[in-house]
Amino acid sequence: MALRFEVGAASQSGGRRGALYLPHGTVQTPVFMPVGTAATVKGVPQDTLEQIGADGAGAEMILANTYHLYLRPGHELIRRMGGVHRFMSWSRPMLTDSGGFQVFSLAKLRKITPDGVEFRSHLDGSSHFFSPEHSMEVQIALGADVMMAFDECVETPATWQRTRDSMGLTHAWAARSKQYFEAHKHEVPWASEQVGESASQRVSRVPHPSQSYRDGWDADHLAGRTQSLIGHTQCLFGIVQGGMYPDLRRESAERLVEMDFDGYAIGGLAVGEPPEVTREMIARTLEILPRDRPRYVMGVGYPDQIEEYARMGVDMMDCVLPTRAARHGLLFRAPEPGERQAVEDAEDAIGEEQTGIDRPGERWPAESAANPSAIRMNIKRVEYAEDQRPIDPACSCPVCRRYTRAYLRHLFMVHEPLGATLNSIHNLAFYLDIMERVRKELAGH
Ligand SMILES: [Zn+2]
Repeated sequence: MALRFEVGAASQSGGRRGALYLPHGTVQTPVFMPVGTAATVKGVPQDTLEQIGADGAGAEMILANTYHLYLRPGHELIRRMGGVHRFMSWSRPMLTDSGGFQVFSLAKLRKITPDGVEFRSHLDGSSHFFSPEHSMEVQIALGADVMMAFDECVETPATWQRTRDSMGLTHAWAARSKQYFEAHKHEVPWASEQVGESASQRVSRVPHPSQSYRDGWDADHLAGRTQSLIGHTQCLFGIVQGGMYPDLRRESAERLVEMDFDGYAIGGLAVGEPPEVTREMIARTLEILPRDRPRYVMGVGYPDQIEEYARMGVDMMDCVLPTRAARHGLLFRAPEPGERQAVEDAEDAIGEEQTGIDRPGERWPAESAANPSAIRMNIKRVEYAEDQRPIDPACSCPVCRRYTRAYLRHLFMVHEPLGATLNSIHNLAFYLDIMERVRKELAGH
């Protein structure tokens, strides 16, 4: 078995509470997945990732980037190490992207043919070739629970005809991805393994008393059982493209559903278009996708956006924003009663974002709504120099329980790596708490 998805009735706005059963464990949905680009969520140790968030459940699923791991340390090395889970000591579910987004946004001198794409590494200029089959081969060697079909990412903006041509290539590549995957999925490195969590991992997963509502969903998950992976395989999601054209989004979703994937991603969004266009494309695509399969929006977004999309019926999301913003001193917190975003703070923060892209090719989402439900704080501002409060008095993360804004500002100003780590832990906890809040509301529906 690759995947089982149990999903409740949709709320009025389309949101649904679910559980995704994967080879490495159960994931409560809607879920936000921190991005572990090079088999690490930058600056945050795995044991911390397992515990952050108000309920102590931690991140239940993380993402790793195929392109980066293929270049360094190489997928064959990771295969020899037993797959990416064992390599990075992470026993919970994982997802790998197809490598396509980075090939199209980061690599140099691309040459696209119907067969695949030839590119040069952004690291050393060496020449490489990715086809749907090769992307599958690399992702099987990495061994994440969920892998993604290889797709072409069209530039933005693109004409209707250019977008349609690109979409046609994506559909042909999706069919080839699925064909290769079905023929080779038994080659995953953990195909004959027993996995179990260590005692310390089990302790970290004892549910908080307030979490009793979860019992019906994941009693086995919380029990920390040893699980056999024998007979399990990875699963494969298709990626809906179609740019910013509703008719193409519809056509793409219909074509992919015909191919019968385990789940469906909505790709090619958050690439600079206005947020209302992102929302519209998601809404149009969700109408077509089958209710009984997980739906994943790639590379979004700001706190208010992930909350909104979860309420619309998106089950899975990932984004580098909480950790990348954290490394640049941008922190999210809940507004105090009646509080609005300070204009100068927002402008500072936006300035940081625009200059803060330290890894070209990673996604940087579109601008947020005018009245975000989260306040952005730029920790380097002088007003925090002697501020004794935690980042967010309403947050129960380990950083807010222990450290002041004054200390975090100091760490940032003197470029201490602990500052990036603590900021990342808080921002991730903030994102996970948003999802927990949405799940609770949807469970009560
Ligand atoms: Zn916090």
